[in-house]
Amino acid sequence: MIWIGNHVSVSKGYLTMGRHAKKLGGDTFAFFPRNPRGGRSKTVSDEELALLRRFLEENSFGKLVVHGAYTMNVCAAKEEVRANSREMLRDDLLRLQALPGNFYNLHPGCHVGQGSETGIRLIAEALAGVIREVEQNSAMPLQNKVLLETMAAKGSEVGGSFEELKAIIDLTADLGGAELREKLGVCLDTCHVWDAGYDIKTGLDRVLADFDRVIGLENLCAVHLNDSKNPLGSHKDRHEQLGKGMIGSDALRAVVRHPLLQGRPFILETPNDDDGYAAEIQSVREWIAPVGAKNCRSYCRDSFLSMKL
Ligand code: FE
Ligand code: FE
Ligand code: ZN
Repeated sequence: MIWIGNHVSVSKGYLTMGRHAKKLGGDTFAFFPRNPRGGRSKTVSDEELALLRRFLEENSFGKLVVHGAYTMNVCAAKEEVRANSREMLRDDLLRLQALPGNFYNLHPGCHVGQGSETGIRLIAEALAGVIREVEQNSAMPLQNKVLLETMAAKGSEVGGSFEELKAIIDLTADLGGAELREKLGVCLDTCHVWDAGYDIKTGLDRVLADFDRVIGLENLCAVHLNDSKNPLGSHKDRHEQLGKGMIGSDALRAVVRHPLLQGRPFILETPNDDDGYAAEIQSVREWIAPVGAKNCRSYCRDSFLSMKL
């Protein structure tokens, strides 16, 4: 089985976020702890975090996939941007020490003309440094795995190939210690890998075998489930609703049903309103219902019940 949910807004508080995700039929979700375009994060009390933790437990939610702000670029050319980005990353990870056992996903960054080798080095330095600071400041080990997202290789994005993500993980471990390997993972975005040129439509097994050879499937911790507006290898990064893009329902169904991808949280980042997300979550639940099930109504009983709230 997999966990399925979408991006929800943090604006009305952490507990509301959990309730909202459940109402849409989800059993995981993603959120930006701060404005996705950057800016200050919403302050959250330990009490509020404890309430969300209880809610997640009581409702048997899977791991959440928190998303770092898009403006974060730990490998920017300007020292000031790099410093701000590291601060955002540290601040997010410190706050999430009180929401343990989940994932924090970030875009590796854009090297903006410095070349991917320099980009990879700056990202690894930032990760090793920030994780050490978070552990020192909170006086406990990092409580959430940091995931690097597979990117579309648009512009100067680093992380458009499995090899680049692997290089970041290796260098971070070289710089900060081998134990850092356990604290890092990868989030596979179906739109991004498709746009980067990995053919998950006619060659899903091949792409997963490639991932396994380069990074190891045990390090594939979460999936962003999106269709793409553009053809394979277009390097565009424009998400589409499931089944309405160039990847298509059949291929996306094969992704959520793939035996090697079970047990992961799948997050929808499709252009949708709440009704659209609820419908997509429902479709995914039908896709993953056991073959031969007469209907998915009993299988999806929990989500049906919660949608009537
Ligand atoms: Fe992302
Ligand atoms: Fe994504
Ligand atoms: Zn994207």
